[in-house]
Amino acid sequence: MTARIPESGVNLLRDPALNKGTAFSDEERDALGLRGLLPPHVCSPEQQLARVLENLRRKSSALEKYIDLRALHDRNEMLFFRLLMDYPDEVMPIIYTPTVGLACLNYGHIYQRPRGIFVSAEDRGRVKRVLGNWPSREVKIIVVTDGERILGLGDQGANGMVIPVGKLALYTACAGIHPAHCLPVLLDVGTNNAALRRDPLYLGLPQERVRGASFEALVDEFVAAAREVFPDVLIQFEDFANHNAFRLLERYRGRIPVFNDDIQGTAAVTLAGLLSALRIAGGALKDQRLLFLGAGEAAIGIADLTVSAMMRQGLSERAARERCWLFDSKGLVIASRIDLDARKRRYAHERAPISDFCAAVKAVQPTAIIGAAAVPGAFTREVIAAMAAINVHPIVFALSNPTSQSECTAEQAYAWSGNRALFAAGSPFDAIGVADRMLVPRQANNSYVFPGIGLGAIVSGTRLVTDAMFMAAAYALAERVTAADLSHGSLYPPLSDVRAVSAHIAAAVARVAYEEGLATVPQPEDLLGHVKSQMYEPRYPSYTG
Ligand code: NAD
Repeated sequence: MTARIPESGVNLLRDPALNKGTAFSDEERDALGLRGLLPPHVCSPEQQLARVLENLRRKSSALEKYIDLRALHDRNEMLFFRLLMDYPDEVMPIIYTPTVGLACLNYGHIYQRPRGIFVSAEDRGRVKRVLGNWPSREVKIIVVTDGERILGLGDQGANGMVIPVGKLALYTACAGIHPAHCLPVLLDVGTNNAALRRDPLYLGLPQERVRGASFEALVDEFVAAAREVFPDVLIQFEDFANHNAFRLLERYRGRIPVFNDDIQGTAAVTLAGLLSALRIAGGALKDQRLLFLGAGEAAIGIADLTVSAMMRQGLSERAARERCWLFDSKGLVIASRIDLDARKRRYAHERAPISDFCAAVKAVQPTAIIGAAAVPGAFTREVIAAMAAINVHPIVFALSNPTSQSECTAEQAYAWSGNRALFAAGSPFDAIGVADRMLVPRQANNSYVFPGIGLGAIVSGTRLVTDAMFMAAAYALAERVTAADLSHGSLYPPLSDVRAVSAHIAAAVARVAYEEGLATVPQPEDLLGHVKSQMYEPRYPSYTG
């Protein structure tokens, strides 16, 4: 491939999408006016990779590593993605959870260069113009947040931009969506985080959040403008607070291709983990009893998708719901409570009130507990022991992020259950040697599914993103878990397989789009082959033919 040649060599070095740094060949240095602007030695991409890796490993703190990677992303896109793809276990936890949480908390302090588009409450009436400032019209996917519920860290206002930036890097690394097709967006409507507003280095609007009709109008204007400026763009809502997340999803999902990863992506990745766990524990999904700690976006999303999956196994909707229990900040969600919204009420069953989670475990007798309340340490020794008394293989998912919010560690889940727990977590935990084997807890990481869902939606040009697509994604992910993975207690494939996983998920999602009559591009004969052919590979362009 011969790349477009900018007018000056210096500009080439400053454009991360075109820059090859010390890898510019002698011919290119002569042809592009780069001679003398670089040290004489021409490096191979492998040498460059070794250098950036050495530098990264020299940084002693996670935040320093994050800053280093951001700078690389802004300097040399190819190297950044090569590093991310070749060392996913090392680099993904920096670019995304858990370090991304730390980066959010410190955004105004570590900020170096802008990335993405900031649409603020003051841009009402001119959002289209703001989006038009983006230099490319090739955008196919937008990840947008208003920063109100960042991981389990609450309201981070404009600092939340770190999340769409990280997420889109994963769309590229994990599913090969071309970087030029990705646009991170931050809707800055203020923050109710008073400490942040007082921080002199805070970069967002230092005001209370805009709510109600004004908020709604801004989102409406943004969505309409995005679809106009970037026709057919897929919009992924990210880290909106619970009350807005469900409402925005409902508002747009029947009209345009949108999805909410916190609700729907989490559901797919968790359902896949449950399916894997049952290959070890035995039994059908329809016979499980799930108790959620938390009743928010993650918990309700997972419960809803699990109910659909149980219905596919023959249960009525009512019977399937009865197998899912929620426990929120007020205790067990039961029919006699009068404080429940409609979403929770669907899971409110007849039972006496219980305000202690361990007592709820003993009463409900779940086969699985799923933590999504950002209450660190909530899965105590007593809770895990109670689960282990009820089940030969208790399923314990500690989903809350980042690591500091985890309901329990992998070590605790294993130790307190006599190494019988089938464990997955939102954050990464190291492998643990027990008796005769290694237990390898893998992350219930949304990045197994959202990149493939995005790619499948883009490849098929789907007009909507439907529940059936998330179900297909969950099964496609579960199918990638091998017997060898299961023998180590791993409920997910290794992250190093994520490209292959994403390709399969994308094909499964696209297949649903074709089956549901939602696709807008002709169906290729070999869907998986076509998906793979569309995936971006980080490679330097040649400027001299
Ligand atoms: P949310 O704000 O929508 O829901 C939080 C829920 O927790 C609410 O129902 C609230 O009532 C409940 N809660 C709060 N305090 C409680 C307490 N003391 N006891 C019981 N329940 C309590 O948030 P969410 O989007 O559902 O996310 C929750 C957590 O899950 C976050 O830490 C997030 O990072 C994590 N998460 C992980 C993954 C993943 O691992 N793949 C995906 C999504 C979310």
